[in-house]
Amino acid sequence: MRVRTLSASAVGLDCSRADRRDPRTLNPVHEHVQKLLDLQKVDQEVSSLTKDIDQLPAEEEKRKRRLDQLERAATEAAAAMQKAEVESRNCDSASRAADEQVTKLNERLNVCRNNAEYQATLFEIESVKKDRDQIQDDGLQLLEQMEGLSEAAATTLKAFEEERAVFEGFLAEAQKMRNDRADEIGEARAKRAGAAEGIPPDLLREYEGLYKTRDFMAVSQVEDAYCQGCYNKITMNDVARLMGSSAVVRCGSCQRVLYMAPA
Ligand SMILES: [Zn+2]
Repeated sequence: MRVRTLSASAVGLDCSRADRRDPRTLNPVHEHVQKLLDLQKVDQEVSSLTKDIDQLPAEEEKRKRRLDQLERAATEAAAAMQKAEVESRNCDSASRAADEQVTKLNERLNVCRNNAEYQATLFEIESVKKDRDQIQDDGLQLLEQMEGLSEAAATTLKAFEEERAVFEGFLAEAQKMRNDRADEIGEARAKRAGAAEGIPPDLLREYEGLYKTRDFMAVSQVEDAYCQGCYNKITMNDVARLMGSSAVVRCGSCQRVLYMAPA
């Protein structure tokens, strides 16, 4: 059973077999296919340099979303805490106002002109006291809630700040990686323009499409009549055409451009 090359390792593909090929061997390679092979070598070099860097924007986006989530959680927790603080202060002042009202009503008891008025005032005092007790109960409940809210606000803020520090570290690392690689990538890309020279435009476009969709390998070797890109057998007719090296031959299964292994 042949083992399929994984895409990750395909980037750092071993091109030694292609390098070892001797133009004097029995299986000469079509001129355009040889150029594609040389170009593929340069492209694989660029790919291995840019592979990590190409993943950075998606990684940054993912981390930013996580950071935004944490920031929203921290903002919401702080807002809940503030709301509770305001409500608690409102309870205090409502409770004090009720106390003042009770004091005034008690004073009014002394100047009541008749029993009905006296009873009505007593009734009002009871009613205000009852309301005040309810307000005080609410206030106590709020104080209890505030302990939890304060803890949640502190925890979510800490989580956000920690993640922000990690995110800033990531951004700095990413920038450093881009800077460090910039020259190497520039050199490899400059080589690419030269390597692509002389390849018919249609074939070059076909190659570029395959390179992207076929795991960084658009040109594949044939060994014992098997395409080494997809491990399917190719037709004897195609083997003959490859031996003749007069045409560009594609794998019938994966469409990769083929070349023969040295005899
Ligand atoms: Zn194939």
